[in-house]
Amino acid sequence: MEMIYKEQAVLKMSANNPPVKKVIPGSTVVFETYDCFSNQIQREDQPFSSVGWDKINPATGPLFVEGAEPGDILKVEIVEIKIDSQGVMTTAPKLGVLGDIVKGETTKIISIQEGKAIFNEKIHIPIKPMIGVIGTAPAHEDIPTGTPGAHGGNMDCKKIIKGSCLYLPVNVSGALLSMGDLHAVMADGEIVICGLEIPGEVTIKVDVLKGESLPLPMLVSEEKIITIASAETLDEAAKIATLNMHTFLVQQLGFQIDEAGMLLSLVGDLRICQVVDPLMTARMELPQWILDQYHYKIK
Ligand code: CA
Ligand code: CA
Repeated sequence: MEMIYKEQAVLKMSANNPPVKKVIPGSTVVFETYDCFSNQIQREDQPFSSVGWDKINPATGPLFVEGAEPGDILKVEIVEIKIDSQGVMTTAPKLGVLGDIVKGETTKIISIQEGKAIFNEKIHIPIKPMIGVIGTAPAHEDIPTGTPGAHGGNMDCKKIIKGSCLYLPVNVSGALLSMGDLHAVMADGEIVICGLEIPGEVTIKVDVLKGESLPLPMLVSEEKIITIASAETLDEAAKIATLNMHTFLVQQLGFQIDEAGMLLSLVGDLRICQVVDPLMTARMELPQWILDQYHYKIK
C-alpha cells in the first residue's frame, strides 16, 4: 500500500504542484492528514488567531494517477477514515453564521472516547468521520484549499465518509488529487466555520473512468447518489446541484425534462453542505433505489 505523509501538503490546488507520488489506476493509497490548523492548536489557551493563514487547511498530496487525462473522471473510493483521539473547535468574532454575536475567541478541545465526541458531561456525540477538503487540480487557475468548486476542494460535505465513492473531474494529466480537513463529526452548515477538526489517515482506492459523462462532483453511497455544487450564494449552489442531478436523470436515465423535475420534487432532497467557506456548497440527494429500478449502475 502506498502512503503519503502529512508533511507533503499543499495550500492550493494547482496544476503546478509537483506530484508527491505516482500510482496506477486501481491502487490503494493512504493519505495522512493534519487537522485544518496544521495541528497547531493543542490547548484551549491557543486561539484561532494564533494560527497563521499559511497554516489553514493543508491538503496532503498531490497524488498523480497514471493515465488520467483531461476529460476523464477520477473515481475515489473512500475505503477507511481513521482519526486521532482528540479534536479541536474554535470560534472567533466575524467568522461564521454567528460571527456578529461572538465577542471573543474560544477554543475547545474535545476528546474521542469509544466512538463518541465528549462535548461535555451530558453530551456525547456519536462520531461520523468525514473529509472536508478533497479535490483535483483545476486546469487554469490555482484555487486555495479553503475554497470549494467544480474541482471539489473544501466542500465540507458530511456525506464524504467511509464506504462512499467520490467522482471528480480530471482537469490536468494525472488528476493531482489532494485531501485534508477531516472532521470527527460535523453538521450540515458547519455554522461556526469548523467541524470537530482532527488529524487522521484516509485510505482510498483510485480509478480512472474514460468516456463517461457524470455531473461532477458526484458522490455515491450505498443509499444515495449526490450532486455537489458550490457558488457565491447558497441559492445559486442549490440551483446548480439540482440542475446537475436533473441533467443526470435526463441524459443517463432518459427522463423527460418535466418528469425529471417532478421526480426530484418528490424524492430528491436538496440540502446544505456548508455556508461558511469562500463559496457556499449545496447538494441534491437522490435515493439509489431509483437507479436500481432502471438497472443503472454508476461505474
Ligand atoms: Ca472545511
Ligand atoms: Ca474544517
